[in-house]
Amino acid sequence: MTTNAALIARRNRTIGPYSPLFYDEPLQFVSGSGVWLTEASGQRFLDGYNNVPHVGHANERVVRALAEQAATLNIHTRYLNERVVSYSEQLLATFGAGLDRVLYGNSGSEANELAIRIARQLTGATGMIVSDYSYHGTTITLAELTTGLRTREPLAPNVRALRIPDLDRDERTEAEVLAETLGELDAAIGSLQEAGFGIAASLFDPLFSTEGMPRVPAGLAAGIVQRVRAAGGLVIADEVQSGFGRTGSHMWGHEAVGMDPDLVTLGKPMGNGHPMSAVVTSEAVLDAFGSRNEFFNTFAGNPVSAAVGEAVLQEMAAEQLMSRAASLGAVAQTHLRELAERHDFVRAAKGTGMFLGLDFAIDGAPAPQLAKRVVEGMKARHVLISRIGRDESVLKVRPPLAFGASELPILLDALTEALSEV
Ligand code: PMP
Repeated sequence: MTTNAALIARRNRTIGPYSPLFYDEPLQFVSGSGVWLTEASGQRFLDGYNNVPHVGHANERVVRALAEQAATLNIHTRYLNERVVSYSEQLLATFGAGLDRVLYGNSGSEANELAIRIARQLTGATGMIVSDYSYHGTTITLAELTTGLRTREPLAPNVRALRIPDLDRDERTEAEVLAETLGELDAAIGSLQEAGFGIAASLFDPLFSTEGMPRVPAGLAAGIVQRVRAAGGLVIADEVQSGFGRTGSHMWGHEAVGMDPDLVTLGKPMGNGHPMSAVVTSEAVLDAFGSRNEFFNTFAGNPVSAAVGEAVLQEMAAEQLMSRAASLGAVAQTHLRELAERHDFVRAAKGTGMFLGLDFAIDGAPAPQLAKRVVEGMKARHVLISRIGRDESVLKVRPPLAFGASELPILLDALTEALSEV
C-alpha cells in the first residue's frame, strides 16, 4: 500500500496541489461495491455523498453492459447504430410532453455550454440569469457565470446573478420574500436589456444544490419561467445534481419544483461514472438549432455510452430506486427534523428525497466550523458526507440512490452521534 503522504507528494509533482481533496487527512480508496467503498488500509466506508455512482459503485448490470458493448462495437454517431436510438427512446420516455429530443455530450459542462449556445442562437441575445452562488461547469462561458466556486474569471458583463432566498433564514412571509426576489429578477432582466444584451436564457439547478438547498418560496420557479419567457429568453434546468429520481417524487428536479424548462441538461448520474451527458429539448428548438449547425461530438452518444445509460435506467426500474428515494428520504427527513429540534445549533433540516442537509448556525450566524467538525466526525464513523452553500455551513448528504433500508440507520446513527459530539 502506498502511504497517503507518499501518494500526495507524487500527486503534487504530477497533477499538482490545486485539485482539492476532501478531509484534513484525505482518504485513498481502492475499490467500491454498491454503497460501500474500501480504503487502502482495508477499512470500509459508507458512501453518503456521491451521486455519480447512482445505481451503486461497480454496479454489475452497468459493468456488464459496458464490457459487452465495448467488446462488440464502439463507434461515433456518423454511422447508424440502433443502440443510441433505442437508449434515446427510453431516456426521452422519462420526460414530460414537449421534451422529446436529445443531444449528447460527455460532461455536465459540455451539456450546459451547448444549451447556452442553442439559447443564444435562437434568441439572438446573450444575456444570462444565474443564481448568486452556483456552479455549472468548466468552460470559459461557464467560468464567467460561476458564482459558487473560486475562478479567475470575473462575471461576464452579460451575466446577472440573482440572490436566491432561503425561508429558513428569513423572518418575513413567503409572499414578501417571493415579491422581493421576483422584483430583483425584473431589475436584472431590465439591466441586461438596457445594456443591449437581451435575454438568452436563465440557468438554474432546480434544487439550488450548490447554493445550499435554500427553502425557496412556492412559486419562485414559475415566476422565473414566466419572466424569462416574457423577456424572450429560454429556460435551462441544470439537472446534473437534481435529476434521475433524486427527489424521490419526480424523475426530474424541474418537475418537482414546477420549472417547465425549454432545455434540460443532464450529467453525473447518467452514466454511473462513465462520462456522458445530454441536452434534452423540444423538436422545435432542435430543428431551429440543428438546421443551422452541423453538430457532431466525437465520443458523445456512442454505443458504449448508450449501453451504460440504458443499464442505469434498467437498474433504476428493477430496484425501484426512485420510490426507494421517496420512502427512505421521508424516514431520513423525519430524523433530521428531530435532530434540528434537539440541537440549538441546527437552524433547519433541508432537502428533498435522498438529497439531505442540515444548516448549522450559532446566534443566527452560519457555523461552517461546526459543519466541518460533523463532516470529520462522520468520517471517523466511516460515513462519507460533505457540506455546501455560500458559508459551507450546510451538510450535504447525497448518497448513491442505491442506498438501502439497511444502510440508512448506519448513516443516521452516525449523524446523531457526530452531532452530540460537537
Ligand atoms: N452543473 C452542476 C449543477 C454541477 O454540480 C456540475 C458538477 N459539479 C456541473 C454542472 C458540471 O459537470 P461536469 O463536472 O460533469 O462538467
